[in-house]
Amino acid sequence: MQFSDLSLNNNILEAVKDVGYTTPTPIQQQSIPVILEGNDLVGCAQTGTGKTAAFAIPIINIIHKIVGSAKKRKNIRTLVLTPTRELAIQIAENFDKYAHYTSIKTLAIFGGVNQVPQVDALKYGVDVLIATPGRFLDLYKQNHINIDHLHQLVLDEADLMLDMGFINDVRKIIKLTPDNRQTLLFSATMPLAIRELADEFLTKPKYVSV
Ligand code: AMP
Repeated sequence: MQFSDLSLNNNILEAVKDVGYTTPTPIQQQSIPVILEGNDLVGCAQTGTGKTAAFAIPIINIIHKIVGSAKKRKNIRTLVLTPTRELAIQIAENFDKYAHYTSIKTLAIFGGVNQVPQVDALKYGVDVLIATPGRFLDLYKQNHINIDHLHQLVLDEADLMLDMGFINDVRKIIKLTPDNRQTLLFSATMPLAIRELADEFLTKPKYVSV
């Protein structure tokens, strides 16, 4: 299978080619069609399997259809929650690479640094927000973030967010998002608390595992 077999927009195929990928990895082969169809998804996959591209590529394809070449950003369409600053930065870099030939704007926000540049960037407008849970809630409570028009919520490294004590923050954030969102949950392991989270907040999810 090739990326060109996955019904992706040419802009995205071109960017994937630039990055040097030829064949989608197993998690990408399984996840991309499911996400493009709008399904909720539980993905059991470790870092290193290509799981970031497995959600970033189809999400960019979906958002590109909505925002087209519009210059003015209106609403946050996708929120990715991830446990660490390093992962947030890495995921944002991935989105930027695959969105190179689109007008999609990405921003990573995380704690431990001054919030002012992040708040300024939010004011300018973003389509895809990648956030650690604590900093997300801080800026949300200060009314710097509006997710009323969210399409996709991604819970990345869900088991790590649980281990790091973010699970209550994650639950709070999920409850702030619109009910009709598409929800994608990725986790290297599937402890009971993560399966319960999936049961509570995902709608008829498809399961993929590598
Ligand atoms: P991840 O599991 O998302 O952390 O990705 C692990 C590494 O695999 C990253 O360096 C990606 O750039 C790379 N990668 C992701 N998808 C592919 C692909 N289809 N072909 C080759 N490398 C890839």
